[in-house]
Amino acid sequence: MKKIFVMIMTIFIAMGLLAGCGNKKPTERVLRFGTEPTFAPFEFQKEGSKEYTGFDMDLAQAIGKKIGAKVEIVSMGFDGLIPALNAGNIDAIAAGMSITPERAKNVEFSVPYYQSGLAVMVKKNNKMIKGIGDLKGKKIAVQIGTTGAMEAHKISQAEIVEFNTNTEAALELKNGGVDAVINDLPVVAYFLHQGGGSAYAKIVGKTVSAEDYGIAVKKGNKKLAEEINKAVADLKKDGEYAKIYKKWFGDIDIAK
Ligand code: GLN
Repeated sequence: MKKIFVMIMTIFIAMGLLAGCGNKKPTERVLRFGTEPTFAPFEFQKEGSKEYTGFDMDLAQAIGKKIGAKVEIVSMGFDGLIPALNAGNIDAIAAGMSITPERAKNVEFSVPYYQSGLAVMVKKNNKMIKGIGDLKGKKIAVQIGTTGAMEAHKISQAEIVEFNTNTEAALELKNGGVDAVINDLPVVAYFLHQGGGSAYAKIVGKTVSAEDYGIAVKKGNKKLAEEINKAVADLKKDGEYAKIYKKWFGDIDIAK
């Protein structure tokens, strides 16, 4: 009796599985892009909105469209992005991530898609600090795991305060907890002009270093890196990249 019952159940389950297969749509390819969304205008949340917006977000969507994949954005701390990529929790990083030789040991970078650099931001009324050369022995706020943090650590006798987000680093300057912030130039410039930062802060000195942003994928995943490279090249050719660039940066042509 028991045997017959088991047999009947097995047949039912098998039929169910077969029926399920028949109805299944071909699975859509999904690309999970990791980001850290306190980096306007590259990735951020507009006030009152949960959606991630910005240059990188538009670029990621456009890349997904070219590749034929649905794009999902996964938000996390900047210092968690490369570990998440290596653990397979995300497929790519779109986070204004600068291509550096150290990072290139652990990830595969796409072709550069944006030329950037670092800037020093101080309080508007600060007359002592005129550039990175004046930061010796000073208190500097940075975002953890960034090239800004790496640059700050090279300055002798400086006290570095590391924050999880750029928002907190800027706030610390506003509150007088630090003398300066080191962060990416386009982000600082956007913060001053669009984010209300010019009320209390300014950029001093020359651009500290030239850096290129790249999309990172898991080390060894040359196939995905090549697909992304081709997508970026196509977006540059068909004018889509220029459109996205114009949307976030206006007409100034500093993109490479
Ligand atoms: N470009 C910098 C870096 O790669 C900062 C990136 C960021 O804060 N999102 O470290």
